[in-house]
This record gives sequence, C-alpha cells and structure tokens, in this order.
Amino acid sequence: MTRSCHVDNQVPLEEMEWEDDMEFYCYTCRCGGKYILTEDDLEQSLLVNCDSCSLIIEVYRNSRHLQ
Ligand SMILES: [Zn+2]
Repeated sequence: MTRSCHVDNQVPLEEMEWEDDMEFYCYTCRCGGKYILTEDDLEQSLLVNCDSCSLIIEVYRNSRHLQ
C-alpha cells in the first residue's frame, strides 16, 4: 500500500461524532478545524482532509479493517 499523502492519525469511526442535522460524521482536528465524512465518502475513501489545515486522518471501522 502506497501512501502519497501524510496521514496524521487513524481514527475509528466510532470515535467520530454523527451530526444528525447535517448527516455526516465529524471529528475535531488538533488545529481546531474539522474532518467531515459523509456516508457516501465511506464507500469510496477513508482518508479525510481537515477543512482548515493540511492534515489527513484515516478512518477505519472496527468491524472491517483496512487492508
Ligand atoms: Zn486541522
């Protein structure tokens, strides 16, 4: 598996906050920004960019680990 970008952290989906109103998962970056992950995103990529800095997290589900 090649990583073309720097993954700052790995976060289990369970630790992300589900925003009922907006219908996405949300996780606070250490810069104060937010990682936003929709259910559609979950189908494609589990790498999420912070909305206010260049950090990236990798989200995984405990029931289905990434390969
Ligand atoms: Zn950030």
